[in-house]
Formats: sequence, structure tokens, C-alpha cells
Amino acid sequence: MSSLENFPWLNKAFLNTNLLTLPHSSLIEGSKGLGKSILASKIAKTLLCSESSTSSCDSCHSCNLFDQSTHPDFFINEDDSKIYFHHKRND
Ligand SMILES: [Zn+2]
Repeated sequence: MSSLENFPWLNKAFLNTNLLTLPHSSLIEGSKGLGKSILASKIAKTLLCSESSTSSCDSCHSCNLFDQSTHPDFFINEDDSKIYFHHKRND
């Protein structure tokens, strides 16, 4: 599975994203093959993690659901140039 750490440009975009101010739905645009879905998944997994607000812990129930692609509060719709994703965080 591709990891954000393998794409330095995505890691920089993730680090520059203020997760506290993101709405529940977001749209990412860019060229095909840029890694938009990887970035969207990283952002959503971090927001949905129940143990950390700055990175995903990879061990909580929410992270396990996310890794199995069964998280009920994450939805992603993608085409070649746009990624729309929705995440419902329990604040
Ligand atoms: Zn977690």
C-alpha cells in the first residue's frame, strides 16, 4: 500500500494542512497520478483517529476500520483530476 511518506510533496501538503479548520467535506484537485487519494486518506484517517489529533495512531478501533476500508464515516469519490472526500469526526 502506498504511504504518504513515499511522496515528499504530499507529506509537505499534509503538514501544511490545518486539520482543525477543515470542513467535513473537502475537494482536492490535481494531475492524475499525483497521489490525491493518498493525501485524502491520510487527512481523513488522522481526523477520524480517536487517540490522536496530529497523526493516526494505527491501533485504535477507528484506525483499524479505516485500514480495512470499512470506516462508516469516510467516503471518497474520485476521478482523474478530482478527489472528493467526506469524513465525520466526533468532536
Ligand atoms: Zn487511531
